[in-house]
Amino acid sequence: MAKRDYYEILGVQKNATEEEIKKAYRQKAIQYHPDKNPGNKEAEEKFKEAAEAYDTLSDAKKRANYDQFGHSGIESGAGYGGFNMDMEDIFSRFGNIFGGGFGDAFSSIFGGGNGYSQQYTNRGSDIRIRIKLTLEETVKGVEKKVKINKLVACSHCHGSGAKDGKYNVCPSCKGTGQTVRTVRTMMGHLQQVSICPTCHGQGKTVSTPCSSCHGEGTVKQETEISFNVPAGIGEGMQFTVSGKGNAARRGGINGDLLVLIEEIPDRELIRDGNDLLYTLFINIPQAALGCTAEIPTVDGKAKIKIAPGTQSGKILRLKGKGIPDVNGYGIGDLLVYVSVWIPKKLSREEEKILKKLEESENFKPNPGSEDKSIFEQARSMR
Ligand SMILES: [Zn+2]
Ligand SMILES: [Zn+2]
Repeated sequence: MAKRDYYEILGVQKNATEEEIKKAYRQKAIQYHPDKNPGNKEAEEKFKEAAEAYDTLSDAKKRANYDQFGHSGIESGAGYGGFNMDMEDIFSRFGNIFGGGFGDAFSSIFGGGNGYSQQYTNRGSDIRIRIKLTLEETVKGVEKKVKINKLVACSHCHGSGAKDGKYNVCPSCKGTGQTVRTVRTMMGHLQQVSICPTCHGQGKTVSTPCSSCHGEGTVKQETEISFNVPAGIGEGMQFTVSGKGNAARRGGINGDLLVLIEEIPDRELIRDGNDLLYTLFINIPQAALGCTAEIPTVDGKAKIKIAPGTQSGKILRLKGKGIPDVNGYGIGDLLVYVSVWIPKKLSREEEKILKKLEESENFKPNPGSEDKSIFEQARSMR
């Protein structure tokens, strides 16, 4: 019998996301679940068919193979065996797709005996913030302090949610955090272990809820957080400060703080990757006679020598005066673009001097091989 298309089986588009595929499979599995369709062979086939489709589409490698070669890509291709699972395999393999919070019989059927309870972690949510950094801060790294309104452990109950720290052993699971039940399936009796829905796996329940946090164990509070911004970071980059997000309900692991970087443009220095660009204006006599010029760097002002006869458009490279690579691959340069300033208005006397210079044979443009245009310089820098 020809096999149906996996996407069609799950009722999803070819470009469905992992999450959409998971959701679609969950729906099909519930619809054709043997507990809901006792003795119905057709439902059982559909149940298996959905699991087979999910087995392939939930695995990036298998899915890519399937997309390219169809069913033959899965059965004979690159070391993937055909789909050969019985009902029990399906339950134990895909059981935890049904996660907690399902609340009905399926959550325990699908709780699976494969360590689901160990996978359970009570974790607070992440917090995303945006910070603005000056060029100097991005170059050197900086310690930042921010105030955030976030969930923290309640100080009255130390995050437990219990008044006076008193708990009862959970009556549903007797403190184990798990419920075990025996179910009759078409393969016979099976023991199904799942997370206790009463205590959410904690094995205990609050006897009297803390009045400050209403038993949640967390309260919203403005909190100052300090963290180090690594050197070399730039616009649009994000880094994680672990454990500085929201506190978890009734104790557990804190979420993370995700920090997105926004760069405040510098008035003088332009960032180009790990290099910095600066335009230096000098006047005509300075270009002809040579001079010492002051330029801004991330370490303050620096003096550079401009040689006599420097052309407008010359680029000077100051090695290592740029930005350190955030991943440690060296340090960028500061490129100084020399621009000769031409006055827009001239006095009579200035005009006279310039007219004289104009007649001078020596002032006629006569570029040599060392007088490279900006385009040639740019090319040789690549
Ligand atoms: Zn409390
Ligand atoms: Zn319990």
